[in-house]
Amino acid sequence: MPAWTVTVDRNRCLGSGICVLYAPDTFTHDDEAKAVVHDHGDALDAVRTAVEGCPTQALRLTTHAPTTNGHTAGGSAIARSSTTRPSTEEEGR
Ligand code: SF4
Repeated sequence: MPAWTVTVDRNRCLGSGICVLYAPDTFTHDDEAKAVVHDHGDALDAVRTAVEGCPTQALRLTTHAPTTNGHTAGGSAIARSSTTRPSTEEEGR
């Protein structure tokens, strides 16, 4: 199991391609222009940037902490909060 996993909520994905731009070795588009995970080829930081850049919060990243026996256990998930992006009004300032 990789040190992290990421999932796509297809109902939220609008096909902007931001995740593919930041982490092309992890995300691609399917024939409906929805993002899909095709590999775990990017560094965690790149995937985290993609998750944080998703305009619809469709991506969920879970990191798995290694244990002393070499297995992974549990994990913590991050998804960009809707409060982390400034409103349109604030962006114009
Ligand atoms: S960044 Fe978000 S909305 Fe855009 S393609 Fe990826 S998952 Fe879909």
